[in-house]
Amino acid sequence: MRKQGWIVAALVVAFSLILAAGTPCLAENIYDRVAKTGVVNVGLMYNSIPAAYFNEKNEWVGFDVDIAEEVIKRIGGYMGKTLKVERVKVNNKTRISFLTSGRIDMSTANMTHKRERDRTIDFSITYFFDGEKILAKKGMYKKHEDFLGKKIASMQGTTSEKNAINLLKKLGDPNAEQNVISFQDEPSCFLALKQGKVQGWATDSTILIGYAAKEPGKYELVGDFFSDEPYGMGVPEDQSDWRDAINFALQDMWQDGTYMNIYNKWYGPDTPYYFPMTEKIETWP
Ligand code: GLU
Repeated sequence: MRKQGWIVAALVVAFSLILAAGTPCLAENIYDRVAKTGVVNVGLMYNSIPAAYFNEKNEWVGFDVDIAEEVIKRIGGYMGKTLKVERVKVNNKTRISFLTSGRIDMSTANMTHKRERDRTIDFSITYFFDGEKILAKKGMYKKHEDFLGKKIASMQGTTSEKNAINLLKKLGDPNAEQNVISFQDEPSCFLALKQGKVQGWATDSTILIGYAAKEPGKYELVGDFFSDEPYGMGVPEDQSDWRDAINFALQDMWQDGTYMNIYNKWYGPDTPYYFPMTEKIETWP
C-alpha cells in the first residue's frame, strides 16, 4: 500500500512537470495590471513636429501627446481611477521593439498601421489619416517626375523609405535604391535638405508641414500624396481588453467632440500646421 502511494505521487509529479513544460507562459493582462498599479507606460516620439516634440520651452508637446493623455484619462474613467502616464521616448526603430519587450504598454508614435507590422504587434483603430509627400526648397520642383535622378531623404525603419524607393522606381529611376538616402531621424533629414545634400525629403505630409513651419516661406510640398498612412496606436499582441479600452476611448472622444478639439489645436486653420480633417474615426454602436 505504501509503495503504491509513492508510485501515484511520482506519477502526479511527472504529469505536472510535463503539463507545465507544454503550457506557454501566459503574458500578463495589461488592462488588469494598469487597473491595479494605476500606471501606464506610453511610447511617444520626440522629434515629430507637431505630433510629439520638444517646443522652445523644452516642453514635450504635440497632437499624439494630447491624444494619448486623453485616451489614458478616459480608460482611467472606465476603471474608476486616475491613471498616471509615464512618457517613454521612442523613435522609428524602438517603437515596436519596446512594445514586444513590454517596456511600453502603448505607442502613440505617428506609426502607420501596416499588415507587416501586425505580425509582431497589434494596433488600435485608425486615429489619424495621413499620406506621404515630398518636401523641397521653394520654387525648385513642380511634380514628382522632377525628382528623377535626384536624391531624396527619408527616415530609417519607416514606411516612407520604402514608398519613396517605389515612387522613384515607378517614375523609371534605375538607381531608385541608391537615390533614397536613409537618415536616423527627422532633424537629420531636414538638415540634409537644408544643406542641399538631398533635393527632397519624403515622409508623412504632416511631419513635413511641421518642419517646414520652422522656416516659413522657404520650403514647399511637391506633388500629391503617393501613399496612405493610417496611424494606429501600437499595442502588444493579444491584449484584447487593453486594446478594446483604447478603441472605446478613441470612439468616445470622437463622439463627444474632444478628438476634434485636440485635432484643431494642432492641425486647425489657425495653426502653422493646417491639415484639414477629411475622414471619420470608426465608431461602434
Ligand atoms: N508613418 C510612417 C511610418 O510609420 C512614417 C513616419 C514615421 O515613421 O514616423 O513608418
